[in-house]
Amino acid sequence: MQITVLGCSGGIGAGRRTTCIMIDDDILIDCGTGVADLSLEAMGRISHLLITHTHLDHIACLPLLVDTLFSRLKSRPLVIHARADCMHIIHDHIFNWQIWPDFFELPERERPVVQFNAMEPDVPVQLGGRRIDMLPVAHSVPAAGYRIERDGVAFAFSGDTTSNDVFWDALNAHENLDLLFVECAYPDRDRSLGQQAGHYCPSLLAHDLAKLRHAPRVGITHLKPGEEDEVFLALQAKIPGRQLLRLCSGDVFTI
Ligand SMILES: [Zn+2]
Ligand SMILES: [Zn+2]
Repeated sequence: MQITVLGCSGGIGAGRRTTCIMIDDDILIDCGTGVADLSLEAMGRISHLLITHTHLDHIACLPLLVDTLFSRLKSRPLVIHARADCMHIIHDHIFNWQIWPDFFELPERERPVVQFNAMEPDVPVQLGGRRIDMLPVAHSVPAAGYRIERDGVAFAFSGDTTSNDVFWDALNAHENLDLLFVECAYPDRDRSLGQQAGHYCPSLLAHDLAKLRHAPRVGITHLKPGEEDEVFLALQAKIPGRQLLRLCSGDVFTI
C-alpha cells in the first residue's frame, strides 16, 4: 500500500498545503489544498474520498475537484465516505446552489457525479482489497479518523483531534499498525487554546501516544505555519521512544 502526503500543514503559504492524503492512486483522505498539485490524469483516478470532518482546511478543494472532474465523473462517480452528519453539512453549506452547484443531483438526480456513503465506527468498508475502518476522535465538530489495511499492513490517520481515549482504544483493538499520521497543531504555550479548538499540543500528544500498544512510525501533521520547528522539536524531546517523522507535501510511504 502506498501513502502519499499531498498536504499536511495547518495552513497555507509557500510550500504549505492543507490536509490531503492519497492511498494508492484511487483513494483520498480529505480534500484540502494539497489535492491541487495532482495532475489532471492523477485526479481522474480518484474514485473514493474519505472525509474526516468538514472544517475548511480539510474540504477546501472538494468543490473544485468535483467541478474539474465533472465530465469524467459522469461515467464513474466520486464516492464520498463520511459520517452522516458531516455529509449533511457539506450538502447544506457547500453543494447548495449558492456556494456551489448541488453535484449530488447533477447531471441528473438519478445519476449524480457525487455519491455518498455514510460510515460509522465498527462497520468497515472494503474498497478494492483495502479494509477501511472509521475511528472515533475528539474534535470541536463531528469528526473521525481512519485506519486502512491491505495485505496485513495497516496505516491510520487521526484527522483533527485533541486528547481522548477512543481513538487509541480503537487502534489498540486491531492486531497491528505500521504507519500512523497524527496531528499536533499547537505549541504547548497554546495548550488551552488547542484543547478548546480540539487539537493536540506536544504534551497532550506525548501523554496519549503512551496509550498505543503498537510501535508504528509516527508522522506529524497539521503543524501551525511558522510554529513548525517549535512544535516538532518539543515533540522529539517529549517522545524519545517513538520514531517521529515531520511530514511534508510529496512524502511517499510504502508499507
Ligand atoms: Zn478541524
Ligand atoms: Zn484541520
